[in-house]
Amino acid sequence: MANTETSENTARHLLKDAAQGRDISEAYNNLPNEEKRAIFQVMNKMERGEIPGFPSSKLLLEGVDTDDDGTKDQLGSVYNKAKKTSVFRDRPDSVYSVYDGDTLNGIAEKSLNSCLAPDDFKGRADAGQIEKAAARIAKENELPAGAKLESGDELVIPGNLVAPGRYGDQQKLVKGMPLPTSNMGADSDRLVRTKEVLNSMPEPVLDLLKDSGVKVVVSHDLCHEEPSQAMDTPRGYGYGETAEQSPAEYDPDAKELRVRQNYKLHDGTTKVSSADDFADSVRHESGHAVDAALGEISHTKQFEDAYQKDVAALSQEQRDEFDYYLIGSENKEDLTGREETFAQAFAAGLKDEKLTSNPDDATHETDRNFLKAFPNVEKLVKEKLQDHLD
Ligand SMILES: [Zn+2]
Repeated sequence: MANTETSENTARHLLKDAAQGRDISEAYNNLPNEEKRAIFQVMNKMERGEIPGFPSSKLLLEGVDTDDDGTKDQLGSVYNKAKKTSVFRDRPDSVYSVYDGDTLNGIAEKSLNSCLAPDDFKGRADAGQIEKAAARIAKENELPAGAKLESGDELVIPGNLVAPGRYGDQQKLVKGMPLPTSNMGADSDRLVRTKEVLNSMPEPVLDLLKDSGVKVVVSHDLCHEEPSQAMDTPRGYGYGETAEQSPAEYDPDAKELRVRQNYKLHDGTTKVSSADDFADSVRHESGHAVDAALGEISHTKQFEDAYQKDVAALSQEQRDEFDYYLIGSENKEDLTGREETFAQAFAAGLKDEKLTSNPDDATHETDRNFLKAFPNVEKLVKEKLQDHLD
């Protein structure tokens, strides 16, 4: 591995040369792969506007002749090309939860064919590719030959094995949004929707999100975000389920809430999120961000008491409907259900009638039932928000 600081310095020198109009193509091409990767990362930051004291990004994107063909290429397009080369292999891995009946070959096939349209026969992996990928997954997970997979086993699926050759969209910063927001292939009505929902929140809540550095990504679907994670089984999801089935998520490390226009159903068909469901997702993921910003209320004793009181009073029917919120309810270590319950109580409690698109949308009844099932949690979340509003 190259020294990070040296790599970044080389990257900065090269990019500065490029900014002054020098042709850096030869110098760039002669670099070892790690250094090329460093440049790529600097460009990536540059694109996100995260490089202070580096004001020449506009110039950099205006163009130099990087491939010696007599025409000026935009460094932006070098960045695009670089993104698609095998040099940049460090794509995020997926962690897949095995379900009953899964085989290594089946998982390999599903990985290679992730983010394909159901009728995209051209892009499908052949038997040889599947064999190879299965061997690679076995090696990565140190599975002995002929190992039997058990339901619930977690397998690391290398990022470049999942939906190989497919890449997310470039993030496009959207102007005039209440929180820093990037679009990755979503329709403009989804951005309008996101804006309305965020603006409908009490101002101190929105300020809290702003001040704690929360960002928003609105995407067409997971495959427009990061296809290499399409085999990841999200927290709280069942064995064999993948991130392609998830309509939204909150990433606490990046402080990013990601909301998707489309997601997949169990049978692999695409579901377009309804306007009301989409709005609910924006609120729910904001709920996770608020929970974190207020010091993780869902982890407190006070929350635990309210939650357990509600859980104890649930009917069997309610337990079935809201099983997602019960994950870990009998286990102090697993906070999934408590965090999800906080986020949904926040979402359902802050619903703004004025923003309802379709009063018959199923999400409204679910939310009403949710609040009936978790009255003590709802009350506590309201109190905590009120404390913050005061
Ligand atoms: Zn959640």
